[in-house]
Amino acid sequence: MVLRSLQLLFLSLSILLGGSGALFAKDIDISGIRFGQNGNVTRFVLDVSEKAEPSIFLLADPYRVVIDLPEADWRASDSVKASGAVDGFRHGLFSPGIYRIVLDLKDPAVIKSSFHLPPRGGYGHRLVLDLETTSRDRFLVAVKDSKKARPVIVAKATPEVVSPRRSVTGKRVIVIDPGHGGPDPGNLGVIGVHEKVIVLAIARAVRDELVSTGRYDVRMTRDRDIFWPVRERFRIARRHGADLFISIHADSINRPDVKGGSVYNLSETASDKEAARLAARENKSDVIAGVNLEQADDEVSSILIDLAQRETMNFSAQFAAILVSELERDVPMLRRAHRFANLGMLKAPDVPSVLLEAGYLTNKQNARFLNSRDGQRRIAKAVRRAIDRYFEQMVALGR
Ligand SMILES: [Zn+2]
Repeated sequence: MVLRSLQLLFLSLSILLGGSGALFAKDIDISGIRFGQNGNVTRFVLDVSEKAEPSIFLLADPYRVVIDLPEADWRASDSVKASGAVDGFRHGLFSPGIYRIVLDLKDPAVIKSSFHLPPRGGYGHRLVLDLETTSRDRFLVAVKDSKKARPVIVAKATPEVVSPRRSVTGKRVIVIDPGHGGPDPGNLGVIGVHEKVIVLAIARAVRDELVSTGRYDVRMTRDRDIFWPVRERFRIARRHGADLFISIHADSINRPDVKGGSVYNLSETASDKEAARLAARENKSDVIAGVNLEQADDEVSSILIDLAQRETMNFSAQFAAILVSELERDVPMLRRAHRFANLGMLKAPDVPSVLLEAGYLTNKQNARFLNSRDGQRRIAKAVRRAIDRYFEQMVALGR
């Protein structure tokens, strides 16, 4: 209890000190990983630069082990093959100060032990995790226990989050949201570049284009490889007092011939099967990054009920229509490019929001376009033209 209060005190202090946040979270290097198997025990070893106290917990459906460490530099190979109970792994910056590794399990497995090994026999510091396969029932009990027992890694104060205040410059505030990030890479296209990387590049091009006009105050939900939960993205937009929120993604489908972008508005019912499938995939981002969904409040559902925010919906639809028409001039687009789906990141009740699926990473030509400077610039210019037109309309409406 005393420890907990101290941690809270330090957290407040670190926020007061302007988010240096280095009181608990210190940076480490992860230089290697290994999997081993001995009977029904799977051993996961991390080579680390120094002793680091992990915060480990389990998540069900699908079975996952989440290992949170202080902010880390990942130098280990991503092509190491998982074995034993582990099917695969992901990693990345989860939030400032917390580096997350997610192990996907084939079968339920609980943490038998986790410990630190000091340098010895040619090895440096190691963090060892032994997982023991078990029944579903025992796993579910362990999920609950792991939540109670785990130590808290204190997140650094987040510079990305600002106080709720409208732009002092009087400019329109545009919030650009590059999808995915950190332990959630998004989909991997045929050219071998993850969605999180490509959409960040597109978002930066859009930001630069908008800033160059001098007319807009542009903010990004992320400007590096870091994760935000789905609903935190629109909360960031609200905190910035956004006039417009644009989430940028790139799609995938198991048909390599399909290419072209599309623009989504929020709707409780999807416009078509493809849109429903897309919403399911994009909303899964939190599951992939190991977010504990039980902790989620039901803000979103109450917001959805309150769709008396008709005005926001109308403005969102108007902007989407303009954006589609501008993109169609210069960017490959799907035939019916204006679509609707129940997308979690579009649920700000008071910020007109769209999700741009810039194209398909499963089509080689489309993926190359999205990954090229030229393609990114074309998208950026089309987005800028659309935003210009949209706000001209707003002015005409006296908004
Ligand atoms: Zn996406």
